[in-house]
Amino acid sequence: MTTRAALEPYLDLDDATLADRISAAKRALGKRLVVLGHHYQRDDIIRHADVTGDSYKLARWGAEQTEAEFIVFCGVHFMAESADILRAPHQTVILPDMNAGCSMADMAQTDDVHEAGATLERLGIDSVTPITYMNSTAALKAYCGERGGAVCTSSNCRAIFTWAFAQREKIFFFPDEHLGRNTAIDMGIPEAEIMVWDPAREQGGLTAEELRAARVIVWKGCCSVHTKFTAKHVRERRAEDPDVRILVHPEVPHEVVAEADAVGSTEFIIRTVRESPAGSRWAVGTEYHLVNRLAQQMPEKSIVILSKDFCLCATMYRISPQNLLWALESLVRGEIVNPIRVPEATKQGARIALDRMLRVR
Ligand code: SF4
Repeated sequence: MTTRAALEPYLDLDDATLADRISAAKRALGKRLVVLGHHYQRDDIIRHADVTGDSYKLARWGAEQTEAEFIVFCGVHFMAESADILRAPHQTVILPDMNAGCSMADMAQTDDVHEAGATLERLGIDSVTPITYMNSTAALKAYCGERGGAVCTSSNCRAIFTWAFAQREKIFFFPDEHLGRNTAIDMGIPEAEIMVWDPAREQGGLTAEELRAARVIVWKGCCSVHTKFTAKHVRERRAEDPDVRILVHPEVPHEVVAEADAVGSTEFIIRTVRESPAGSRWAVGTEYHLVNRLAQQMPEKSIVILSKDFCLCATMYRISPQNLLWALESLVRGEIVNPIRVPEATKQGARIALDRMLRVR
């Protein structure tokens, strides 16, 4: 039976029935199950999550729940892969919708990154540490692990760049151009020494001289949500409310970071808003569902999204109560649907890159 056909009986259920049946399935599975909810998930998923967080926190937390056989990851594909890399041997990671991908992760295809690395070697540019953002496929994490590189998150990117420069002269960073550029600029690296590798063009669209002069080579990839924010939005919000403080995620373009009051990871954004006093006024440049939830949780503060456009992660949104219920009721029947299984050789390389990240303070 196809996934579409299997989902058919769930499609016309009303919200209350879906919620009741999800709760009942969770009760039936008890401690054999944990449900992880990424911050960008919609509220009718988050209400069923045993824990919420960013991708790395969730992957580690799931692995630590040793009584749980099933880790149902309400997030996107690369996150479920990370959970599968870190999980205990008796655990299975399940993604309720296999089409929940990440447009940024998809922008760095494994073959293209291998080809880029080979091109650099061919040009004699070999003092290069590959660093991949957590938001990438397991195959790219393994690529870094096998070549002396590491993974980074949006919280520790600067620390990982500092570590990488202590190993070799240059960094090759993928798949997010903006996190790479924002971090490099924050470290004082001139823009002229940050080059963008465009995989659609011969030799990344760069000359050998440009590549030799570069200190950081960033992949031409981006988040479809965070690149919707512009410097114009910052100015509009300030014009509307002179007391507003602008808080953005480092996946936004540098022109936005340059005009913001603070920049940081999803966890940093949550902590900053939570710790601010009542009456604080924030315009936040990150995914709609998270900003909306923060506004609901803290009515004593003004919390709005930076752009008035609908900045929603469409692939995160693919995780619906219907496919969550289908995954859970299948488990109750003893059937595992949508398991995520990263090949063992890939896992080994990816774990090396993740372990290097953990050793950097
Ligand atoms: S918010 Fe951006 S980086 Fe995160 S899953 Fe969606 S497209 Fe990918």
